[in-house]
Amino acid sequence: MSKIISLCKRRGFIFQSSEIYGGFGSCYDFGPLGTEMKNNIKKAWWDEMIKNHENIVGLDAAILMSPKVWQASGHLTAGFADELVECKSCHKRFRTDEVKGQKCPECSGSLMASRKFNLMMKTFVGPVENEAAATYLRAETCQGIYVNFENILNSMRLKIPFGVAQIGKAFRNEITPGDFIFRTREFEQMELQWFCHPKDAKKYFNFWQKERLKWYLNLGIKKENLRIKEVPEKERPHYAREALDLEYKFPFGWKEIEGIHNRGEWDLSNHSKYSGRDLRYVDEETKAKYFPNIIETSGGADRSFLAFLCDAYTEVKGGRAKKINLLLPPSLSLGRTKTTKATKEIEILLKLHKDLAPIKVAVLPLVRNKPELVKKAREVYQLLKPHFICQYDELGSIGRRYRRGDEIGVLYAITVDFETLKNDDVTIRNRDTMAQERVKIENLIEVLKEKLEN
Ligand code: ATP
Repeated sequence: MSKIISLCKRRGFIFQSSEIYGGFGSCYDFGPLGTEMKNNIKKAWWDEMIKNHENIVGLDAAILMSPKVWQASGHLTAGFADELVECKSCHKRFRTDEVKGQKCPECSGSLMASRKFNLMMKTFVGPVENEAAATYLRAETCQGIYVNFENILNSMRLKIPFGVAQIGKAFRNEITPGDFIFRTREFEQMELQWFCHPKDAKKYFNFWQKERLKWYLNLGIKKENLRIKEVPEKERPHYAREALDLEYKFPFGWKEIEGIHNRGEWDLSNHSKYSGRDLRYVDEETKAKYFPNIIETSGGADRSFLAFLCDAYTEVKGGRAKKINLLLPPSLSLGRTKTTKATKEIEILLKLHKDLAPIKVAVLPLVRNKPELVKKAREVYQLLKPHFICQYDELGSIGRRYRRGDEIGVLYAITVDFETLKNDDVTIRNRDTMAQERVKIENLIEVLKEKLEN
């Protein structure tokens, strides 16, 4: 894990928040590459929901809501609380389920009795800090969907079953944040709330777990690193009738990256009760009135980021080029050039799916001390830049630049060499196979689009 964390910092994926002030507990900032990659994850999720499925619409609700929402949802009562134990000596707090035995894991002091700790983050709205002005940062994005159920239904003229998708920040005052961005106090969720007839709840609960598993697999997560775990009744969230955790095999163990819940009529019936608005759905044909059941798929953008990163991170001892050259006779070298020869003990390769890789294309002049080559490479870069997330790199040997690109998952490296000046063509090098092909500059956009968009 430490190698991945170090790559994240070194190459601009993730930085510790407020680092120059010594950092700020469990908060992280996504750097230039991390921002691109996280946007790609969110786009892949959004496209999956809005384009690949029918009857799903989007929402972007406010983070701050009336505190009444959180009373109705059960989050202010014991429902949304973790059990914690506190050490009598060092006063550190731990989740009860994470402590083995009766001693403090930090200083071996004795522990106080276990008690409930609410995870909602309280804040004050307006200039006066009193209870009347208190509210909470949302602990899950879905409540914004439930309280807008009527608005969405009426404005979009929807019929059951339908879904509402939302991506946004959520906040939880976690007792023991940790494992890098796995458990933080501020994070981003990607949630679908699927409203259906109660008799269909089971069917859609099964349907959505399969769809969600497929999404991760289609984006390159290895099958052996994903599993579905049924959550036993006593561990289920307070709102869930049925619950599954989609788990990823992180370097620190199997952990949840997405929760799939059958929330029954918990949310709409409680919001009806607390708000006094009848949120039952009326079936136009049968005139039946009922609370739709809700199937929720609740994924974390940050946790899936970490899973995609861990899954893609590959180390090749002795370097790839060396290995392949040993195995293949020169006639079968698939266009691999001497310049890709390994010079390092360990080569790092980030085999991210093409839709998730932060940088799609790198443009590299073969050498940087030939002005005509640099000029041409800059022209190619300007040509590609409006179409793909691109970078221009001229520092160091071409082999080193390829490896620098491999380490951050750049999919295609375009090399401008002396032949380019004669023939107006370039080489495209594939990150994973290292195979190279020559393509006319006039066809470059089309060829890259073909590779990246299909
Ligand atoms: P855990 O048991 O790990 O605390 P949870 O069961 O409370 O998670 P849910 O309430 O089901 O999580 O939230 C749905 C998703 O939101 C999780 O699968 C995860 O991807 C993300 N998530 C929840 N809490 C955090 C957190 N503290 N940091 C980062 N992501 C989180």
